[in-house]
Amino acid sequence: MPPFNNNTKDFQRSGSQTMTTNGRNALYGVWCAITSAKYETVIWMFIVAVSASFGILSGAHRLWTKYETVIWMFIVAVSASFGILSGAHRLWSHKCYKAHSSLRILLMILQTLALQNDIYEWSRDHRVHHKYSETDADPHNSNRGFFFAHMDWLMTKKHPQVIEKGRQLDMSDLLADTVVRFQRKYYVPLVLLIWGVLPTVIPYYLWSEGLLISFASNMLRYVLSLHQSWLVNSAAHLFGFRPYDKGIASRENQSVVYLSFGEGYHNYHHTFPYDYSASEFGWKSNFNLATAFIDFFAMLGLAYDLKKASDKTISERQERTGEKIKGLQKNTLLDYMIGLVITIWPLWVTYISRTIYRYFFENVSYVY
Ligand SMILES: [Zn+2]
Ligand SMILES: [Zn+2]
Repeated sequence: MPPFNNNTKDFQRSGSQTMTTNGRNALYGVWCAITSAKYETVIWMFIVAVSASFGILSGAHRLWTKYETVIWMFIVAVSASFGILSGAHRLWSHKCYKAHSSLRILLMILQTLALQNDIYEWSRDHRVHHKYSETDADPHNSNRGFFFAHMDWLMTKKHPQVIEKGRQLDMSDLLADTVVRFQRKYYVPLVLLIWGVLPTVIPYYLWSEGLLISFASNMLRYVLSLHQSWLVNSAAHLFGFRPYDKGIASRENQSVVYLSFGEGYHNYHHTFPYDYSASEFGWKSNFNLATAFIDFFAMLGLAYDLKKASDKTISERQERTGEKIKGLQKNTLLDYMIGLVITIWPLWVTYISRTIYRYFFENVSYVY
């Protein structure tokens, strides 16, 4: 029996009520989880998690992963994030700005580096998410709980409504984009090359990193990047405040802002999805690296027609539908200091881990 049926109460499983009001539903929930799982994704995630765990071990050990590799993987992870945030999200899903073909090619390469489905599929899921937020047609419906919105939605067969509503969306603009079509057509070889082979063999050839360590480090940066993106779907839909529209679930979440380079102004983003900055204040006022990325290419003339909600539109909307919250604009210097320290956390966590390792395992002879 399929776990979802539009004509029965099963359909309500994706809402917030049914699972808690019926005592039998604990067992039924397990049954649904078993029958609705996408086992190929579950197995894939298990393999990635095991490989990434070795990446953590080797990263914490001062004799294993080289610092060059740690820094390289950090750069790869940040680059991949720009492919998702500034590319798949703000350019292709929302058409917040236009980009010269050279920038679109660069963003396509960076988006491939992230391995989060091709641009077409990513954008289709995201457009459905915006149009049908917190309903059965929302791919990562946060009414189904943190874990589902965070990552379980990828390990579960799509709700029929997600598929149906997704098919009804107009995606002709993306199909008209040769860069998107090219990536979709050659996605598998592109992923193998850009996401898998290149980040792994560059440390091996350029600074003689062990191939296995390089592979595991690449898996680790992949896992961390995934969680960074997923936090926007989970935490930024469940925790935070709603100064622009208190009638929607998405929220302003400062932790997600710092962990995702400026993508956590999510109540604003769902209220004004066309805004290229995905926040009221641009990167010059508040921490928002994805906006700085777009502005940098706008300065070069490669990004143009940037859309921005006017101050009047924002304040009128806040007055009409938002929670009354003061102090939205942070102290810029402090905001960037905190944001940058958090952004580079993989580097200082690696350093501290190795220092601790050295202290406990290499000073043993002094203890005795
Ligand atoms: Zn969006
Ligand atoms: Zn959202």
